[in-house]
Amino acid sequence: HELLDEYDINESQYANIVDKFISKLISLLGHIEIYAIGHRVVHGGMKYSKSVLVTNEVIEDLKGLIPLAPFHQPYHIELITSCQKHFPAMPQVACFDTAFHVTQLNKAKHFALPASFYQDGIIRYGFHGLSYQYIASILPERLPEQAEKRVIVAHLGNGASACALYQRKSMATSMGFTALAGCMMGTRCGTMDPGVIFYLLQERKLTVSQIIELLYKKSGLLGYSGISNDIRKLSGNPDPKAQQAIELFCYRAAQEIAGLGVAIQGMDALVFTAGIGEHSADVRARICHELAWLGISIDEAANNAHAPLISSKDSSISVAIIPTNEEYWIVREVHSCL
Ligand code: AMP
Repeated sequence: HELLDEYDINESQYANIVDKFISKLISLLGHIEIYAIGHRVVHGGMKYSKSVLVTNEVIEDLKGLIPLAPFHQPYHIELITSCQKHFPAMPQVACFDTAFHVTQLNKAKHFALPASFYQDGIIRYGFHGLSYQYIASILPERLPEQAEKRVIVAHLGNGASACALYQRKSMATSMGFTALAGCMMGTRCGTMDPGVIFYLLQERKLTVSQIIELLYKKSGLLGYSGISNDIRKLSGNPDPKAQQAIELFCYRAAQEIAGLGVAIQGMDALVFTAGIGEHSADVRARICHELAWLGISIDEAANNAHAPLISSKDSSISVAIIPTNEEYWIVREVHSCL
């Protein structure tokens, strides 16, 4: 996906790269025996609330979900079918980013649309579930006092979202029907007034595919700054647009985090994870500054050193950095599925 974004690679070139990648992987593994393959799959829809052994029926179902994740789902399917070609007898397991969020509060799953839309699966699914599930699994070790209480996890990477946990289960999350909602992201706009889309269609005469491209690939940090989707390239950049993009990113993330506090009626701990959450002291500091009115304060030295606990002693909310490990969680899922 990142290759496609960065180098403008089309789908058939991608299929070729996947094929070469798998062949290379096989040669690198030498005689190490593989006994199963686990795949991260962004969307499981209404049907898949846990990991599943891949069959032809599963692949057909995943194809049906392409419109809900147009820049993720086709590439998962490509990788799965390519693995089937290289390893015909190998069990493959699809692990879904939506699955962890089935425990969301009922009201957190609904749009304010006529009820029949909910029955048709037009609901707030939520994403980054494999990351949240991993974080939830190690909370007792990392934040023993707060683990079972009200914890908000901010997964800030190229894709960004936040999730409100209570007793280590998802109660609400910032993403929705698609991975476009919620926080501002690397190239995605996050939540915005849907009226903008009608305006772009009717007045600017943009086509649907141009709007999809705009909102998924040309917005967010990249679109707003006009420079890059990568915080590393924006941080030290003296161009005011670079700084404004980081400011908006942090403001929007703080808004989503604060909003999630409604679902769990407060916050005992805030956890930062993923590429930006784990590595950008500047972004963490700015977000915590936006949330200072909640009683959050951070220890600057601990934050700059990327310490596991970055809240100051007088902070009413503990603030931690926990590196995510989606691959580890996928391995766990494959074991339990098989
Ligand atoms: P992810 O999607 O979780 O892999 O995160 C990718 C994003 O994390 C990149 O686009 C960068 O913006 C950010 N990132 C990765 N490493 C660093 C770093 N050392 N310092 C600041 N930001 C980083």
